[in-house]
Amino acid sequence: MSLAQGPGRAGGTSSEQELHTSKHVAYIKNLDTRKDELQYWLTEHLRLNGVYWGLTALHLLGHPDALPREETIDFVLSCQNDNGGFGAAPGHDAHMLYTVSAVQILVTIDAVDELDKQGRGANKKSASLQNRDDGSFMGDQWGETDTRFLYGALNALSLLGLLDLVDVPKTVTYVQSCENFDGAYGISPGTESHAGQVFTCIGALSIAGRLDLVNKDRLGAWLSERQVDNGGFNGRPEKLVDACYTWWVGSSLAMIDRLHWIDRKKLSAFVLQCQDPENGGFADRPGNMVDVYHTLFGLAGLSLLGVVDGLQEVDPI
Ligand SMILES: [Zn+2]
Repeated sequence: MSLAQGPGRAGGTSSEQELHTSKHVAYIKNLDTRKDELQYWLTEHLRLNGVYWGLTALHLLGHPDALPREETIDFVLSCQNDNGGFGAAPGHDAHMLYTVSAVQILVTIDAVDELDKQGRGANKKSASLQNRDDGSFMGDQWGETDTRFLYGALNALSLLGLLDLVDVPKTVTYVQSCENFDGAYGISPGTESHAGQVFTCIGALSIAGRLDLVNKDRLGAWLSERQVDNGGFNGRPEKLVDACYTWWVGSSLAMIDRLHWIDRKKLSAFVLQCQDPENGGFADRPGNMVDVYHTLFGLAGLSLLGVVDGLQEVDPI
């Protein structure tokens, strides 16, 4: 699936109230027909994630069958390495972020059995990346740690019913160590708060059943402050708004029961301005080129907010 930007631009005006569902479905279905473009090949390092983003967006739009199922399964399995993990594309090294996408795709299209045919390799891969000393997770065999990998591992293992493969209490302790004085979370202990990391940390605690450890009012206040004048969210103070934070911030607020602390109508109006009403797709901001990543997270955010009709309900975790 192409991750190239465009071809269209987000052209919504502030009076935009309609979700252009059929345009978005057509946009995603056409992503794979752009293989003659250079950018298709330049984005190969994200190919498996792209399939996940496109597929999930189609499910939200109520067109789950718009991508061919068998071809999707074949592609996912062709990305698996001998060590059980998945790479971004056939022949690429395995990494946690692609392994999670692979599991999510197979679960979404009800094809997890395909993994079982090959043993529990993929699942053991996630488990083996946990640092047993402090509970953190590495993204690959090279050892970089990041709360994104920790959330990814818990997400994939919980989808497969295999959380017992890792030390969940230690993971929870590690997440707590990433909490900052402002109530939000960073990429590792002592690093700057960021909305994306809040999502991964709160998502991990939610999967672990330990949201009771979160100071919900303090975190809810920090997340609410991400909404700026035009209705959109930024990822941290003084940064530009971006449609994808509708999801990262919005779902975090939903998980701690504080989604009503923001102006949902204003946020929905901002996200609708980020769609290309002619060719489909969403961009990060009005006027910018659309891409499949912002298309998924724009749609997921809209579904979460519940202001616009015509989207399947999304699970905030
Ligand atoms: Zn973004």
